[in-house]
Amino acid sequence: MKFKAYQNVADSIASLYTIPIPLIDIANDEDIKVIYDDYGMDTFDGMTWYEPSQRRFFIHINTERGNNADNTKGRFTLAHELGHYFIDHHRHALETGKMQPHIHYYNPFGKNDEWIIEREADYFAANLLMPKDEFMKDVKGEEFSGQMIQSVASKYNVSFSACAIRYMNMNLVPIMLVYAVDGKIKWQMRSDDFPFYLLRYGKTKVPEGTVMGDYFYKGDSSCGKQSEVVFAGDCFHTYREEQNGLEFFEYCIPFGKHAFSVFWEK
Ligand SMILES: [Zn+2]
Repeated sequence: MKFKAYQNVADSIASLYTIPIPLIDIANDEDIKVIYDDYGMDTFDGMTWYEPSQRRFFIHINTERGNNADNTKGRFTLAHELGHYFIDHHRHALETGKMQPHIHYYNPFGKNDEWIIEREADYFAANLLMPKDEFMKDVKGEEFSGQMIQSVASKYNVSFSACAIRYMNMNLVPIMLVYAVDGKIKWQMRSDDFPFYLLRYGKTKVPEGTVMGDYFYKGDSSCGKQSEVVFAGDCFHTYREEQNGLEFFEYCIPFGKHAFSVFWEK
């Protein structure tokens, strides 16, 4: 698939730098001007545009939406915008005005025309921030846990969720990732080999018998940030009665109205 080419581009750039990948240095080395400013809440996380009169690329990063030079959200946003510069057909489209300086929100299941372009830039970003060979060395053969993901995420200065998605795409231990806001599922992803497709109530509400459920319905975060045993029947849409007692681990990170959980088989 074509995405492989973006991995190679990201790998070759990453190989010139050290971990955690210094994105600002990469931008400077390419003579890209990166501007951090408050562009309002309902606008964009990052925006890349080409200024023909200066023959130069500019990347605007929106601090109002929580993006900073050193935090994990801001780093992923900048890596994504660099994807629009380093991926040939994105850069060409920006230079010729075929692609408008566009707006990036993180929504892995968006349906607009720019969806593919955005997924390409996200894929590039993950590969740039967490180069495949190095990442594989860190995780292969390691027992899976939330703590393991957290420690690898710290090394690369990426978010827990970005690191967990990267891990999921390596096809090692099968995992399911769930992100919910106010008790509603925003998105869910799974390894191809994960034994269940859906949560207990599909993509609607968070199941009560999960650590996430305790957080949203009881305000109880005491089981957060640790591996908790949960049962398949409480968490997933199972296919047979006898699967209900299967034990899984859930590692949940609650924050404000949000919670992010990883599930894997015990
Ligand atoms: Zn974008």
